Amino acid sequence: MVAGILEKLEQLYGPQQPGWPTDPYLFLVWWHCGYPASDAACARGWESLKQSIGMRPEEISGASQAKLTKALAPGGMVPEKRAMRLKEIAARAQELRLEGPLPKIRKVLKSFPNIGDPGADRILLFADIAPVAAVPSNGPHVLVRILHGQERENYGVTYREAQEAIEAGVAKNFEARKRAYLLLKRHGQETCKRTKPKCDVCPVAGDCAFRSGKTRGRASGTR
Ligand code: SF4
Repeated sequence: MVAGILEKLEQLYGPQQPGWPTDPYLFLVWWHCGYPASDAACARGWESLKQSIGMRPEEISGASQAKLTKALAPGGMVPEKRAMRLKEIAARAQELRLEGPLPKIRKVLKSFPNIGDPGADRILLFADIAPVAAVPSNGPHVLVRILHGQERENYGVTYREAQEAIEAGVAKNFEARKRAYLLLKRHGQETCKRTKPKCDVCPVAGDCAFRSGKTRGRASGTR
């Protein structure tokens, strides 16, 4: 079923490409260029940082806190805090060579600021380190709604259910898992929004348990 859903999403949105750097160090820089960390906010901060300071660890370490804060301001809120975190990332860039067993790599990634399991999964997949079942951090509800109906109130449980669906329904290789991630991300951003999903124009409405009214536990979403 997941294969058919992805096929329909691809017919609507077309083939997708990541709109962020896939190198682990550069991804961490990009991720701190905006807050709240949407693609658009991060892209604005990224462009500003590139123009005024640069991305290399030595460029970020060598910039003053004030200059870094100013460079990150176009990305949104708390630029001073993001500047401090960028300094930490730049100082620890060597750690992002990421060699060895997967649990060790995951532990290193999660030791960086603002990186939990969803962020670590995203880096592991898009940096071609491991074809894990990564789920867009802002859209784990998409696949869960389609397959099970109402998503859980607990984000971690919803994320795990989405991961299980990908593990079961998407081939374990980089190409297939990246495709799934990018299509689900796009669908969550444009159509299956967390609140007020656009079910009337959704290409998978006919396959969707949420749309057909199936619910589990205490419903918390809206239609
Ligand atoms: S029908 Fe509605 S809930 Fe189901 S995937 Fe589409 S937008 Fe999301």
